[in-house]
Amino acid sequence: MNAAQAAVRRPHVIIVGAGFGGLAAAQALGHSQVDVTLIDRRNHHLFQPLLYQVATAGLAPAQIASPIRSIVRDQANTRVILAEVTGIDVAAKTVTTGGRKTAFDYLILATGATHAYFGHDAWAAHAPGLKTLDDAVDLRRRVLTAFEAAETACGEAERRRLLTFAIVGAGPTGVELSGAIAELARRALTRDFRAIRTAMARRSSLPSQPMRRARCTNWGWRCAPAAQSPMSPPTASASDRKSSPPPTSSGRRAWAPPPLGAG
Ligand SMILES: Cc1cc2nc3c(=O)[nH]c(=O)nc-3n(C[C@H](O)[C@H](O)[C@H](O)COP(=O)(O)OP(=O)(O)OC[C@H]3O[C@@H](n4cnc5c(N)ncnc54)[C@H](O)[C@@H]3O)c2cc1C
Repeated sequence: MNAAQAAVRRPHVIIVGAGFGGLAAAQALGHSQVDVTLIDRRNHHLFQPLLYQVATAGLAPAQIASPIRSIVRDQANTRVILAEVTGIDVAAKTVTTGGRKTAFDYLILATGATHAYFGHDAWAAHAPGLKTLDDAVDLRRRVLTAFEAAETACGEAERRRLLTFAIVGAGPTGVELSGAIAELARRALTRDFRAIRTAMARRSSLPSQPMRRARCTNWGWRCAPAAQSPMSPPTASASDRKSSPPPTSSGRRAWAPPPLGAG
């Protein structure tokens, strides 16, 4: 680089991650006298707050993902690189992607966060997180497959097992997911199955813990309404009661599939 080139050379800013944070930084620098390189291991920006809708078949994956290139296409000073950053050399001011080093003057790391199993990594196979589109699609497959398996399952106990969903974590995502699964069971799927009544599956009487706790195990189909004790079972609506079988001697309602062909 000669002296003239060096004189016009603008500072190079590398941003790693095109989530909310990285995109906001890139857009803020869009009209500054800098060159921006935005690196992400995915080609799309993901709107994570609606992941639960993809996980419960309410939205398609493409509805919550936008190509990063399209988002910054009008920023002449910004280029997008699809790559995973595997190393950073702070002293040499370089980032490593796939064996290649790129120099920066300023570095912005906006790589987000991931969920944790608090030392119980073996749980991952049974309880996937919900952070990426792949996670959401995998969850959707598991949920829908459970209804399919219940349709052909032998016996009430097996159906109940298949149609009992446990959500660990009753923060916003856990509560939204719980509500969306209830919607799926009580509205979207009710007329699609013959041997099972999907809406009945929410009557799981597994215990729940108070939702006030910061980390809470939320069992079952829906969260207790605010006015109701979190420990008490959900109350049936008038239409639910009309279509439900009579209570057993234990007070619980027995599950019985409707006759084939019934709506
Ligand atoms: C299910 C769910 C629901 C949520 N609901 C809400 C809500 O309702 N309201 C709210 O305010 N917040 C909500 N959040 C939180 C919000 O989505 C996050 O706070 C926000 O996405 C964090 O932004 P970020 O830019 O820090 O990270 P992210 O959005 O996670 O972006 C990180 C980016 O970095 C990339 N990346 C990571 N590592 C590398 C690497 N080594 N090389 C290259 N690229 C890399 C990733 O591919 C990703 O694109 C929710 C989160 C989830 C998961």
